[in-house]
Amino acid sequence: MKLLVTGGAGYIGSVVTSQLLDAGHDVTVLDDLSTGHREAVPEGADFIHARIHDSRPHLLGRGFEAVLHFAAKSLVSESVAAPQLYWENNVAGTFALVEAMRSASIPTVIFSSTAATYGEPADSPITEQTPTNPVNAYGASKLAVDHMLGSYCRAHGLAATSLRYFNVGGARGRFGELHSPETHLIPNLLSVAAGRSDACRIFGTDYATTDGTALRDYLHVTDLGRAHLLALEASTAGVHRIINLGTGEGYTVRQVLDACRTVTGHAIPADEEPRRPGDPTSLVASNVLAREVLGWAPELALEQTVADAWDFMQRVDAAR
Ligand code: UDP
Repeated sequence: MKLLVTGGAGYIGSVVTSQLLDAGHDVTVLDDLSTGHREAVPEGADFIHARIHDSRPHLLGRGFEAVLHFAAKSLVSESVAAPQLYWENNVAGTFALVEAMRSASIPTVIFSSTAATYGEPADSPITEQTPTNPVNAYGASKLAVDHMLGSYCRAHGLAATSLRYFNVGGARGRFGELHSPETHLIPNLLSVAAGRSDACRIFGTDYATTDGTALRDYLHVTDLGRAHLLALEASTAGVHRIINLGTGEGYTVRQVLDACRTVTGHAIPADEEPRRPGDPTSLVASNVLAREVLGWAPELALEQTVADAWDFMQRVDAAR
């Protein structure tokens, strides 16, 4: 297929672009390089340096058959401090993109939604029927787009899939996570093993979990990416599907720390700190719907996710 990938210079977008190219698709990446890296765009993909807000002239007459839309702001704490960035980029930007798609008669979109749309649910595991109640502008902006896409499917026959990511980690060879600032658990823990800092921080040891630290569902990025290819195949005109993507297994922060210690052979000293504002106790996905609708199943366990993230970090350090 002839595909447009927004945000293909970022972490997940670059991994999925590499998978799409390997599967034989013709891929063009559109990215404003605000947080992504030009060198992260896989060889073989065309590149357009533009904001999604200005995507219209790049979509018209190009014959794209589908858009995979990764470009977004995605830091919870930033969204609390500066919500305008999230409404402007995630909602206004996506509105411009889907209007450009409508003008260009592009029938299909796969959208990166998030578990943050559920807020702090009592349910575990979280299903797609769990009520949405986002507790920050990041989750609210993604939920607004989910609603936007649903309305376009009903009114204009768009085929849309909102994939609600839980936590994502790991790498695919030279495509991996390179955020600045880095806020995510696995790269922060590994950066201690890599000698970039002296100790990691555990945010919150008084959660109601087995060891007091927060529980999350860490999916390997290549398993996540495979679901996008399957979602493309399953897309149906006029239908909006919302599908959770996670392993269905929860790990506490301390369990992830143990996995990082095992993989790296480094002691990774940890400082215990208060909870990070807005962090729920537990976010674990039900992936029953993804299995049923997409025929998808996660294949890689946490140890592999950590090992691939570690391999990627060492590649980055070796290249410096
Ligand atoms: N966390 C931590 N230390 C860090 C980064 C994260 O203890 O350096 C915790 C965080 O409070 C949360 C979990 O690890 O409970 C996962 O955080 P991350 O930022 O990776 O993903 P989130 O679940 O916030 O999307």
